[in-house]
Amino acid sequence: MRIALFDNYRIGIVDGTSVRDVTEAVDSRWHGSPYVINDLIEHFDELNAPLQAALASAKERSLAEVSLLPPIPRPGQVLAAPANYGAHAAEMTSSRHRPAGGQALKSPREVGFFVKASGSISGPADAIQRPALPGRVCHHEVELGVVIGKAARGVPAERAIDHIFGYLILLDLTLRTEGERQEERTLRKSFETFTPIGPFIVTADEVTDPGNLGLRLWVNGELRQQANTRDLIVGVGELIEQASGVVTLRPGDIYATGTPEGVGPIEVGDVVHAEIDGLGELNLSVVERGW
Ligand code: MN
Repeated sequence: MRIALFDNYRIGIVDGTSVRDVTEAVDSRWHGSPYVINDLIEHFDELNAPLQAALASAKERSLAEVSLLPPIPRPGQVLAAPANYGAHAAEMTSSRHRPAGGQALKSPREVGFFVKASGSISGPADAIQRPALPGRVCHHEVELGVVIGKAARGVPAERAIDHIFGYLILLDLTLRTEGERQEERTLRKSFETFTPIGPFIVTADEVTDPGNLGLRLWVNGELRQQANTRDLIVGVGELIEQASGVVTLRPGDIYATGTPEGVGPIEVGDVVHAEIDGLGELNLSVVERGW
């Protein structure tokens, strides 16, 4: 199932280029709220019958007629893996944007996850707002995003799949510094619109193997990143085991699994196109932040 959020926080089931509104399946107290999707995810099993009923009676609309929102506008937590592809770790170690000290980047197995502010989430219809700050370069990072379905605390890797609701495309945009300036990773990656997600959530039953998905990113038609999640250093299950050993992961939380090699700058006026096998595509323009 491909679950989108659109217009006034309506929940839609996407089929090809059409969408059916199934908002009525969710308790009416959540209608019109950005948290409607968190409730759907948390109660998904018990909502199966109402969802099917709503789906059967909903009229089909064209996706082109609706305005897609971030599928999870208010995730409780957005966790992210650093340097989780070997070739990306190598390119960062040899770049002028490397962390201070010039040491090789350690994998998430050694250093664990970092946090992005959940307020940095944006959606498929939102432009990337690039702040006009001096001495920084804005980098694109395309990543597989994992959506937590069932609360996870102390979950071993082999049972992690039971706690995954689905997957989406995620961009982990980063305002890197040049020269001596140092800023916290959380700040660099938490500017508003720096975590585009979407275009919808694909439920886990439709993804045969999250460890074998091609991901690609273009800027103005130029292919910049092309890789496969089989090259993740630390796989999805192990990432969830590690994170859920630190803090309880809750329905609607998002885990960004890391970006492959090929990260590079984006500028105002650019158009960023990202795809992951089976998860759709994002087309985002880059504008200068107006505030
Ligand atoms: Mn990243």
